[in-house]
Amino acid sequence: MGDNNRTFDVIVIGSGISGGWAAKEFTGRGLKTLVLERGRDVKHLKDYPTTNMQPWEFEHRGEVPYAIQKENPVASRCYVFKEDAIHFVVKDTEHPYVQEKPFDWIRGYQVGGKSMLWARQTQRWSEYDFEGPARDGYAVDWPIRYKDLSPWYSYVEKFAGISGNKDGLDVLPDGEFLPPLELSCVENYFKDFVAKNYADRHVIYARCAHLTEPKQVHLDQGRGQCQKRNLCQRGCPFGGYFNSNSTTIPWAERTGNMTLRPFSVVESVIYDEKKGKAVGVRVIDTVTKEHIEYFARVIFVNAAALNTNLILLNSTSPRFPNGLGNDSGVLGKYVAFHNYRAKINAIYEGFSDKTTDGRTMTSAYLPRFRNVKKQETDFLRGYASGFGAGRYGVRNYDGFGDTLKDNLAKKDLGPWRVGSHMMGETIPKETNYVRLDPSKKDAWGIPQLAINMDYDDNDEKMVKDFMEQMTEMYTKAGFKDIRTNDSKQAPGLDIHEMGGARMGHDPKTSILNKWNQVHACKNVFVTDGACMTSTSTQNPSLTYMAITARAADYAMSEMKKGNL
Ligand SMILES: Cc1cc2nc3c(=O)[nH]c(=O)nc-3n(C[C@H](O)[C@H](O)[C@H](O)COP(=O)(O)OP(=O)(O)OC[C@H]3O[C@@H](n4cnc5c(N)ncnc54)[C@H](O)[C@@H]3O)c2cc1C
Repeated sequence: MGDNNRTFDVIVIGSGISGGWAAKEFTGRGLKTLVLERGRDVKHLKDYPTTNMQPWEFEHRGEVPYAIQKENPVASRCYVFKEDAIHFVVKDTEHPYVQEKPFDWIRGYQVGGKSMLWARQTQRWSEYDFEGPARDGYAVDWPIRYKDLSPWYSYVEKFAGISGNKDGLDVLPDGEFLPPLELSCVENYFKDFVAKNYADRHVIYARCAHLTEPKQVHLDQGRGQCQKRNLCQRGCPFGGYFNSNSTTIPWAERTGNMTLRPFSVVESVIYDEKKGKAVGVRVIDTVTKEHIEYFARVIFVNAAALNTNLILLNSTSPRFPNGLGNDSGVLGKYVAFHNYRAKINAIYEGFSDKTTDGRTMTSAYLPRFRNVKKQETDFLRGYASGFGAGRYGVRNYDGFGDTLKDNLAKKDLGPWRVGSHMMGETIPKETNYVRLDPSKKDAWGIPQLAINMDYDDNDEKMVKDFMEQMTEMYTKAGFKDIRTNDSKQAPGLDIHEMGGARMGHDPKTSILNKWNQVHACKNVFVTDGACMTSTSTQNPSLTYMAITARAADYAMSEMKKGNL
């Protein structure tokens, strides 16, 4: 293959949530784009083998055999590691990494990345999130604010399809929403209770990437209305939720401008000393083990936060001996995550004449209420929280034959069960970092990533406060049998790892500028979780989408001006 066949306008590394958006933006505006994906292709509809299976059609009724769980202690701690979606989750044994401290690294290596598996929660970040580091004096100041991203949130929401309610909260800005579904009567009861009793706390319908009422743009994508099957992790035959496979990747494909190359692990970015910029990437074909170089004017690194750190750290050259753009030495440092350790559960004895009918794909949500407008606790930042209520019923499995049938028919609904989980902001610190292991390599000879992340005293205080505050709210709301639990789970299971190549004003303390360009190598952009300066409390993927679309637009305007 000659250089010409390996030369494109843009290279996008990774085809997950952020890479899919980069591919859509560039190809949609006529740029020849190579999308490199280390995993296999997963075509919408065609490659969802379990999507229409009934529970009894699974060999193990949906469970994963013990031997496989034992072989995969990390992956099996994630709730999607079940028989119906196991083929979309990376197995521990296939892609080892080094846990300098315990870290559950949950990955999806295929076209679509983790968008095949995600829980589709899509809350915008607010001004309080972006101004956090500057106001509270930690990490570095974000070089952007909510107003920079707000039009791009609207842009991606309209295309992806987000179901939500306009709640008018400054702590969780409204977006471009498709209609919400109903909350259950107990969720509505708690919503009203909180509204009456707490001026600064709110319970809302959690916004989610589901087509409750598709618009023309969604029909043009070939997607249809969400049927509330709640089997999303298998891939949806209706395209009812957003994943790259049903939405951005086929859209990019239809332009004729995308070359998608699965089974292509990017080893590093090629830096040309004479030109003073990046000129391409080194790829290893994971099947043939062939080493190939591809070239482009602009490179978007979207391999997901920690893999993006790995690629940049592994991209060494005389100019950048410590990793691409790493003049400051901060590459790989200040990684952070969300603290999901704490939970609270209870029962509610009211509404005993009511239950729910059918399924819903989201629940209620309490945006952060601690330290929002001023510092009021002995810890920095705060937490958001889910809130769900349902009657799950208890069946009596006693007896044989007719007795068993009769007992099963008498399903006792029991009381309403309510519960919340904590989504806490963790503070990016220099002592939380990833680096290349000096000796261990993967199957293709690429250094393994060593991960060193932990909780700190701030996180412990936040867990305690979540339990106290939620217990107080639950008690006042009349919930009974309240139980709190600290799972003490290792970082990682939140699957919201961020940072390592953070954005900032100053090249001495950050890797990327306000347009997500590497300060010292302007034609390389990072727009996945690696770019995040702080972590907020909201699920981050909607923000990655908006940041990616914004950076791609900027890159194209710079290319047009001849600056890139
Ligand atoms: C069970 C689960 C629930 C979740 N729920 C939510 C939620 O409700 N809301 C939310 O906001 N987020 C959620 N997330 C997180 C969300 O999936 C991620 O934030 C999002 O997918 C990140 O997008 P990304 O493009 O950075 O990475 P990914 O989507 O992971 O895509 C990265 C891609 O890059 C590829 N790649 C990696 N390394 C290389 C390489 N060297 N060369 C070539 N390709 C490479 C990978 O194979 C992958 O396809 C959830 C995740 C999981 C697993």
